[in-house]
Amino acid sequence: MGYSTILPCKRLISEDKAMRTPLVLTRRSDFRDFVSAEKKKGRTLGFVPTMGALHEGHASLLRKASAENATSVLSVFVNPKQFGPNEDFARYPRTFDADVAIAAEAGVTAVYAPTVEEMYPAGFKTGVKVSTITDVLCGAMRPGHFDGVCTVVTLLLNLARADKAYFGMKDYQQLAIIKQMCRDLAHPTEIVGVPTIREPDGLAMSSRNRYLVGDSRQVAKAVPTALATAAKSFLDGETSSENLLNKARAIFAAAALTPQYLDLRDAESLELIQGKVERPAVLAVAQIIPKVECRLIDNVVLGKEEFYKSLLSDLIRRTQSEG
Ligand code: AMP
Repeated sequence: MGYSTILPCKRLISEDKAMRTPLVLTRRSDFRDFVSAEKKKGRTLGFVPTMGALHEGHASLLRKASAENATSVLSVFVNPKQFGPNEDFARYPRTFDADVAIAAEAGVTAVYAPTVEEMYPAGFKTGVKVSTITDVLCGAMRPGHFDGVCTVVTLLLNLARADKAYFGMKDYQQLAIIKQMCRDLAHPTEIVGVPTIREPDGLAMSSRNRYLVGDSRQVAKAVPTALATAAKSFLDGETSSENLLNKARAIFAAAALTPQYLDLRDAESLELIQGKVERPAVLAVAQIIPKVECRLIDNVVLGKEEFYKSLLSDLIRRTQSEG
């Protein structure tokens, strides 16, 4: 088809699956040509940006993108601009063949996997910055992180020209920032939030969970348990933000953990809730698991709408089932 860097995924070339093997594109120009060709054919396009090391959480985004669009594209790019100098950029897991296999299973049409030089060629000078909502939660702990996220997501969205792009509610602040950015800059792509996929015991799936070796995996369970305890109290009728926070704080204290932050914020503006929860509110936490120094983030949205209530009930059930 004329793309200079289309690499087939070796693992997947079998008679029956060959039709579903995604194209692998590594050059910006090839990605652009691919998108143009799909658009000329009148196909809708769904886009899922990731840093790879895919798991079932990413797969749910990919399945949704494939189900809702004629063409679906996954990007795999570990973005150096969103890692601080002392963070895990170098050791971030890279599992590309397995990622393409997961993409194939999810019905993905193409995978865009550029190098750092391809994304940020010499002379790259542009950054995208969203104010205020980037200053709280993870933004307060990771200076410059969301500038890196906004820059790479803008670049990827401009290349993909997708009808819809899919982001996980797992990274709730990121989703809120990207929605804000696309609204402010009149980006034509619709941003779709997808619920967090969890392990059977409630731990949110994350590429970083593989750092949780030995008893740190059990320690990490305090994170979903704390959120579930507050969620249960909310579903039982508690609306005081202080009481809800205290429920979660008690679980962390019992596990001898000190969260980097544990905040209850308006689900849209991300402003701190004072007093009662009267609109959907996000209870968000970041916790470094000691010994393995693995930083986990997680959240729940406390809302009375059926959509939120069913997610809260699911989390409560999971944390109780293996309690
Ligand atoms: P990452 O590769 O970690 O940057 O994640 C890529 C996308 O997958 C982001 O939109 C994440 O929010 C989303 N994601 C990561 N983990 C999960 C999960 N457990 N459930 C749903 N979406 C997720």
